[in-house]
Amino acid sequence: MDVATLTLTQAAQALATHEISSVELTRAFLTRIEALNPSLNAFITMDPKGALQAAEAADKRLARHEGSPLTGIPLAIKDLFCTRDLRTTCGSRMLANFHPPYESTVTARLKAAGAVILGKTNMDEFAMGSSNETSHFGPVRNPWDLERTPGGSSGGSAAAMAAGLCVAAIGTDTGGSIRQPAAMTGITGLKPTYGRVSRFGMVAFASSLDQAGPMTRTAMDAAILLQAMAGEDPQDSTCLNSPVPDYVRAINQSMRGVKIGIPEEYFGSGLHPEVRLAIEAVKEVYQGLGAILVPISLPHTQHAIPTYYIIAPAEASSNLARYDGIRFGHRCENPKDLKDLYARTRAEGFGAEVKRRIMLGTYVLSSGYYDAYYRKAQQVRRLIAEDFARAFREQDLGVILTPTTPETAFRLGEKNADPVSMYLSDIFTINVNLAGVPAISLPCGFDTQGLPIGFQLIGRPLDEVAILSAGHAYQQASHCHTITPGGKA
Ligand code: GLN
Repeated sequence: MDVATLTLTQAAQALATHEISSVELTRAFLTRIEALNPSLNAFITMDPKGALQAAEAADKRLARHEGSPLTGIPLAIKDLFCTRDLRTTCGSRMLANFHPPYESTVTARLKAAGAVILGKTNMDEFAMGSSNETSHFGPVRNPWDLERTPGGSSGGSAAAMAAGLCVAAIGTDTGGSIRQPAAMTGITGLKPTYGRVSRFGMVAFASSLDQAGPMTRTAMDAAILLQAMAGEDPQDSTCLNSPVPDYVRAINQSMRGVKIGIPEEYFGSGLHPEVRLAIEAVKEVYQGLGAILVPISLPHTQHAIPTYYIIAPAEASSNLARYDGIRFGHRCENPKDLKDLYARTRAEGFGAEVKRRIMLGTYVLSSGYYDAYYRKAQQVRRLIAEDFARAFREQDLGVILTPTTPETAFRLGEKNADPVSMYLSDIFTINVNLAGVPAISLPCGFDTQGLPIGFQLIGRPLDEVAILSAGHAYQQASHCHTITPGGKA
């Protein structure tokens, strides 16, 4: 059995029929990780002992024909979810030795469902970045071309998936960090509606935008994982209490007559011609399935990046105030006094991008500038959310179709010197977080250099069913998602 290309659905089937045991599957991935991680740097911390223990327990459940579709499935988890007693760094020197005393709701639910956690994946420091290059633990390499970034900030999870180092992975998305790396590594990545999945035990970046989601080979696999992750959590007051639908059962909806909005603002001159061509082909597939393409406008799209880079740093500067060298995390040596302790701890513990965000955030929140920047950004955010609501309502859309990224995976170092060009790589994903709506990125082709291209489907609030079933319909009609980098990694 080639474990490197297994979908979650296939792995669950193989486990249920005892074609393979969870211990065998887990060992196979641990061996692959040992061989390939030195060149990819996808994992920060491995947990072979914990993984094999969980696999043994899963095998016992499977022998009794108990458990769920996740029982015995080896997963990779972004190193931003607190895992009890297993180091959780968030890609930062600040938390390089942090062993959480508690478990995040997402990982707790996955463990309860019987999943096996192989280890914690590399990421941009505090999830700030689009290339994984801000990680204290070094950049991740893209399995399709080791000289290129896998995207970020969930780049470790994306690279692990693309290289076949796990059956599925979990990421987080504040401005595109699940979908952008998914597009750049040829996998499927879902950002649920804000509030669909609990943020309890996720290291906070921008609390009104952060959302956890699955990174998988298929939309079907994303549905299975979301099922286990989603739902009310008394420990997160922003987590919605609306019932969780049966995503797996709902996924087979026909595309016949479904209206797909095509926003003109996403097809401007910044879009690489090869990406544009690939999206044109996706449109044809959907038309072939009976869907109706509807040109729409989301007029405030152009304001997304500046709005995000006020709101996200504002929230980040406030969330990151907790790293003071006293309660947990890094502490500088021999502080002179309290001020010196704060200043040197934070100077040593945070990298350049995190410091840039803290400075931006404290500036836009300062009393003289609050109205001009922060309040204004909140007003524009509302307009962006209303763009989506109006388009869905007035045109009666099922989903909106866009490219996920303006270009394919860029070279390591290419955008490092210019933060603004880095920020622009999320131009098609950030609106979705500002509006709080769900979106999924699916692979749809390759450029002439053989690098993966992704497209994005955006849904109404809490309508993950629409984007999952539209994604599934596409994947039933095409085979892009089955192509892996093979021997390249
Ligand atoms: N690239 C964006 C940023 O740097 C989004 C990151 C994310 O979604 N976590 O903020």
